[in-house]
This record gives sequence, C-alpha cells and structure tokens, in this order.
Amino acid sequence: MCGIVGYIGTENSSEILLDSLRRLEYRGYDSSGIASFDGDKIQLRRRVGKLAALATNLHDDPMSGTIGIGHTRWATHGGVTEANAHPHLASERVAIVHNGIIENHKSLRLRLEAAGHVFQSDTDSEVLAHLFVDAFDAGLGPDEAMSKILSEVEGAYALAVLSQDFPDTIIVARNASPLAIGLGEGAVYVASDAMAMAHLTRQVIYLKDNDYAVLSADSYEIYDGNGQKANRELVTVAANPVMVDKAGYRHFMEKEIHEQPEAIAHTLSAMTDETGKLTASLSAEHLQNISSITLLAAGTSFYAGQIGRYWIEKLAGIPVACEIASEYRYRHPVAPTGGTAIAISQSGE
Ligand code: GLU
Repeated sequence: MCGIVGYIGTENSSEILLDSLRRLEYRGYDSSGIASFDGDKIQLRRRVGKLAALATNLHDDPMSGTIGIGHTRWATHGGVTEANAHPHLASERVAIVHNGIIENHKSLRLRLEAAGHVFQSDTDSEVLAHLFVDAFDAGLGPDEAMSKILSEVEGAYALAVLSQDFPDTIIVARNASPLAIGLGEGAVYVASDAMAMAHLTRQVIYLKDNDYAVLSADSYEIYDGNGQKANRELVTVAANPVMVDKAGYRHFMEKEIHEQPEAIAHTLSAMTDETGKLTASLSAEHLQNISSITLLAAGTSFYAGQIGRYWIEKLAGIPVACEIASEYRYRHPVAPTGGTAIAISQSGE
C-alpha cells in the first residue's frame, strides 16, 4: 500500500499533486501517475520508477486542468509496468487511484469482461474504474455509484475517482487504508497521509473505515458505511513540515536511522508521566502472565520486529515470533494461551 492524492481548486492540479506525491515518497513505491481533467478530457501520465521520471515528463510536457488525482504504487497484483501504474482509465472517462487490494477482483473482472469491458492492466484495481463506468451509465450519481460499488467489492482500499461524467467532483472512499480530506480556501485536497498536504492546509478530516465522500472545490459530503450522511471531526493537524524533507541526509532511511533516539523518546513520552514513570495501563501481573509474543508487521517494520524479537527474548525470556502481517491475515493461527500480539503498522500510521 502506498499513497494517493487528489486536488480540486483553481491552480494547476498536476503541479500540486506532484508536490504532494513527493511528500509521500518516504513510504516507498515502484511507480507513479497523475490524471487531470483539462476541461475537455481526462489526461493521464504514468511512469515506472522514481517520481523524478514523472516530474521530468510533466516538466517537458505540462498537463493542464485544476482537478486531478495522483498515486504512488506498491504493486500487489500485476508487474511493475506503466500499464499497471495508476491512475487507471476506463472508457476514456473514469480514472481511479487505489491503494490496497480488491480481494474479489477476479470474479468482478470476469463479469465486466463478459459485458464487453476491455481491461488495460493486470491489476486488481482496474475493476473499480469499469464498475464506475457501469454505475454512471445506469444513471447513478457520484454518491449512489460509490455506495453501490463498495457493496460489491471486498478488500482494503483507499480510493479516489475522477470522471468526465461529474468533472467538478472527486469521489473518495476508505476501508482499512488511511485517507484524509484537507480543506483549503476554495480548494479541497485528498491524501493518504495529512503530511502530504500539510504545506497546503492544516484543516483535515480523517475518514473512518467504510466512509465515502463526494468532494468539490467548495463543498464536501461524507457518508458512513450505511449510506447515511456522517459528520466527521475537522481537526487542525500539527504536522511538522521538517519531517517531509531529508534534513541534509542522503536519503530517508539514513535520516530515520538518526531519528531513532528522538522517535523512541517521543513514543515513550506518550506513555510516561513527567517523572518518567510508565502510565500505560498494563499491570506487572498482566505482563508476567504473557507466555509468548507474536509481532505482526510488514516491510521495514517487519525487520524492526525481527530485531525486537532478539531483544525481547533476551530481556524477558519469553518466546517471540515475528510474522509478515499481510500473510498472517490469511492464516488460521493457533493462538497460545497467554499469548499476546503486537501489531506494528506500516509507515508508522
Ligand atoms: N493492488 C493495487 C495494485 O497492485 C494497488 C497497490 C498499492 O496499494 O499501491 O496496483
């Protein structure tokens, strides 16, 4: 899972989207892309590899339009190719970006292909674009289309949709993958991480699981998983813009290595009082009764978990297993009595 961004406003969308994607680079990705509606049609740019490749393309051949969506991909279904990079465009009129996995994509794809849809990629995500084409053809509005499609798809997603049918609107949804809406002056932003828009606005609404929303430059409507209009809190984020640059280090990994003492102190400060005493609601008795620990994590968090395993076993003398989270969810694990699990979320989310 990597990053998605969106923008509706009065400025050039591709420049704003590219800048926001740069702020999501720390999450890692294998390809990237942007779709923008230029008032006539949806334009698409995608590149494999570093964002710099997309930036060069946009520099040499700028895109116009003041509404658009962007994506950094971490491939799960289909190789790392330009055709598999997001956004995916169906029938030249619906573009989608998606983070996550559509678990039932095969059956949906077979159904759509039987109905005449032609796919351009090997991804699970592309079914979403075709489902929207069908929903709009059936006369559904943006919220109705999203509601219908979410009832058909299974899996984890943060997604954003741009269409020629509703060219002033971006439709977004999330389930088990983060998504935030940023409110600006006559502009609305979308990002997987508020950090990607902290330089543009601090006024942010975090969607909850199963929420979807219809956004325009000056309005937004959020719905919960039951299709009811929902009020989600508008929060002012205190994102530190320093976190989004490399602060003089050669790359983000080097910066993060050097940030470890500060990051650990920061984490502990949320669980200690001013004298340094632990305030976490775990009693000594509770901790002594833990017979084993399972660490669940992915990517670099998994590597951190593997180091944690050595430390915890050495210090606490109890067995520790470290599992790749994305695989663990498909297992039927045998949980030992007194066993406990520590889930480490990806990208520190
Ligand atoms: N499953 C999608 C793909 O492979 C999205 C991956 C992602 O989250 O970046 O294209």
